[in-house]
Amino acid sequence: MAVRAFYLDIGHWALEEPERWGPWAVPSPVSEADCSVKKLEQQVKARMDQRTRERLPYLPALVRVADRRLKEASERLAALVRAPLGSTFTVLGETFTAPKTTSRADGQATTVHDVQGRRRDLRTEEKRAFWAWATIEILRHTGIRIEELLELGHHSIISYKLPTTGEIIPLLQIAPSKIDQERLLLISPELADVLSAVITRVRQKYGTVPVVPSYDHQERVWNDPLPLLYQWQVSEEHRPVSVNTVRQSLNETMTAAGLTDASGAPLNFQPHDFRRIFITDAILNGLPPHIAQVIAGHGNINTTMGYNAIYPAKAIEAHRAFIARRRALRPVEEYRAVTPEEWQEFLGHFARRKLALGDCGRAYGTDCIHEHACIRCPVLIVDFSELSRLVEVRDNLTDRIAEAEREGWFGEVEQLSVSRTAAEEKIAQLESRKNRKDSPVFLGTPSFDQLIARDSEADATEST
Ligand code: SF4
Repeated sequence: MAVRAFYLDIGHWALEEPERWGPWAVPSPVSEADCSVKKLEQQVKARMDQRTRERLPYLPALVRVADRRLKEASERLAALVRAPLGSTFTVLGETFTAPKTTSRADGQATTVHDVQGRRRDLRTEEKRAFWAWATIEILRHTGIRIEELLELGHHSIISYKLPTTGEIIPLLQIAPSKIDQERLLLISPELADVLSAVITRVRQKYGTVPVVPSYDHQERVWNDPLPLLYQWQVSEEHRPVSVNTVRQSLNETMTAAGLTDASGAPLNFQPHDFRRIFITDAILNGLPPHIAQVIAGHGNINTTMGYNAIYPAKAIEAHRAFIARRRALRPVEEYRAVTPEEWQEFLGHFARRKLALGDCGRAYGTDCIHEHACIRCPVLIVDFSELSRLVEVRDNLTDRIAEAEREGWFGEVEQLSVSRTAAEEKIAQLESRKNRKDSPVFLGTPSFDQLIARDSEADATEST
């Protein structure tokens, strides 16, 4: 873009000051199409879609691990609370030693030492496991943004009475974050369970949700104190849970889950991945895109469709129907199950094609029609590593030809010479393959000098 702008600027200045800039004004070598970001956008969308498709099947496993981690962390903490100071206790197969003293007002310990002498903070472990579980559950049931999650307050849960039946519907009010438009989400029974667990936790002994001030990192302002749901107690002070804590808790759950992608690399989930998965899942399950747009809080339906990692469901179904139709037209015996003997025979075929000089390239199910005269055979695929053996065979043939000529065995000389010629041809083919592999391939791309020479030639021809 900078190069194109440079050429266009010179062209523009040439109109205003032709005597100064005219000689320099030339067509820009960077075309408008070269600067198009459409391709880039499509690549980003393809990458995001792939990311969503890769993570969607692992979501149930992640939910299970988060749930298990929370139960285990709660059990460890409960065991610590029960254990007297200075005692040793065993929970979930792990043995811990509680400290002899504590500075806490309630007289309960926070940290312990395990059998290897490592210090573990069981209260912090439980807190992080809880917020990781709550984050995964709320994000996967609502598809809200991380900043919207952290701004959820006790006042965000409201009820609505249906005018027709009088039924009370619980709703979650999402404060506007990206666009200045609030939205209301229906609270499903599963989401209600999670929200109730969060409220019960932050209420604790006070009976109400404490109000805490929070800092808006986007707007760079302090918000008024609010009864935020994402808060915890640090040294007797109530503080909002930070975005970094949420991300770290998610990463810890991912590490515990041990999920990997197709290449074996650890699979990570960002909070926004849950939003993409939520929208894709909702649309896949028949939710109209314009409703998904309202739930997601997008100003434009194209944004919602951009989040939807489309599966070519129609193409997959049509292809499967085509295969089923084609099978119906073919004789049924073609589709019977392979017998173990046939399978062994199939596998054995490839093992039997291995030869001293490489591999036999004859078709599956056919016999050797060249009486195993591999050195003369055109379907022999010689292995690079067998070049020295081939040279040995060629030298041996040369010695035998000399001996046959010496002894007057002229019938053999003719056959041995045919074999030697075939061996030499194969050696030459191998060497040329090796040279091709080792040397760079010229693709015919003209150099800058060639282009200049061609242009000057064209100018000369024109002036003539
Ligand atoms: S002679 Fe040809 S077909 Fe026969 S085993 Fe050797 S390479 Fe295969």
